[in-house]
Amino acid sequence: QTHFLSHSLQAKMSRRVQARRLEGIDKNVWVEFVKLATTYSKVNLGQGFPDFPAPDFLTEAFTRALGGGNHMLHQYTRAFGHPPLVKVLAQFFEKLLGRDLDPMTNVMVTVGAYQALFCCFQALVDEGDEVIIIEPFFDCYEPMVKMAGGTPVFVPLRPNPPKDGKLMSSADWQLDPAELASKFSERTKAIVLNSPNNPLGKVFSRGELGLIAELCVKHDVLCISDEVYEWLVYDGKQHIRIASLEGMWDRTVIIGSAGKTFSATGWKVGWVVGPDRLLQHLRTVHQNSVYHCATIAQEAVAQGFQRELMLYGKPESYFVQLPKELQQKRDWLVRSLDSVGMKPIIPEGTYFLVADISPFSESP
Ligand code: PMP
Repeated sequence: QTHFLSHSLQAKMSRRVQARRLEGIDKNVWVEFVKLATTYSKVNLGQGFPDFPAPDFLTEAFTRALGGGNHMLHQYTRAFGHPPLVKVLAQFFEKLLGRDLDPMTNVMVTVGAYQALFCCFQALVDEGDEVIIIEPFFDCYEPMVKMAGGTPVFVPLRPNPPKDGKLMSSADWQLDPAELASKFSERTKAIVLNSPNNPLGKVFSRGELGLIAELCVKHDVLCISDEVYEWLVYDGKQHIRIASLEGMWDRTVIIGSAGKTFSATGWKVGWVVGPDRLLQHLRTVHQNSVYHCATIAQEAVAQGFQRELMLYGKPESYFVQLPKELQQKRDWLVRSLDSVGMKPIIPEGTYFLVADISPFSESP
């Protein structure tokens, strides 16, 4: 009897438990670096989040929502986005994109931009589909494409160092138009665009976006446009939304993040904006996975956007102030790294900075 029992238990335990879709995607750069930083008590500059508080108007909105007596804010809200948030996001993006938006069908709220990306890949990518990813890239695109059964196809931004010995800028990293075009085929379902780009801080120019848009239209390809750093652009550069280019609205999903927008990454409120013909499928993934994002956080973010809508383009706007402050920090970090002999690549946007440390290499 005992023998039989242990045998059957063993047989059960020897069975492979993980789904095949997890093969090769179990490693994660953040998990590894966070562990290394804690093991060796090092400052972890790897993960992108602010070391300063979120703005008062936002945290006050959260506190008001929490204690303000509206007990419904502690309950479920609409699955695809708390109505005040989708409404104000629609109003805001109407301004940015210059087109009418329906808050109920053109906007969906997600658990951070991360879940927005997950919904995109699950909803839009099938077995055998190819997805073009521009290198270097935010690490989760690759495993998310693979988990959806798709094949990532990489195309690099190539550096053109300035000849005059000046520091390189993220603008010196460019796509080779012929190389980019060679990656598109009838198997290509989508391209992931991340401007401003993590980790280089590159802000794609209108010309570069035009090239990508032309190829998307020519090959009938979708664009997953990760714009979480849309407000973090420096030196008076302009963030251009690829969805506003000819022929692109119908094939683009814009992804945003309150975490990056309002310096509150722990709140994990994100969104997608796009045509209903794409968003309807993202809603299917959302309703069958997380279903819903914390109501109070959505309420507070809605109030943050209402403030920003009122102050749009004015000097008091957080979206005007934040990049100014970060630009000074960027300049300080560039100077510091340069002074110790590293070669920083000056980012045009985001809160990332890549530095060349090859001068420190021991071998020649
Ligand atoms: N996209 C990019 C390019 C990012 O850098 C990040 C966060 N590091 C995300 C998406 C995820 O954003 P969230 O915290 O809103 O999930």
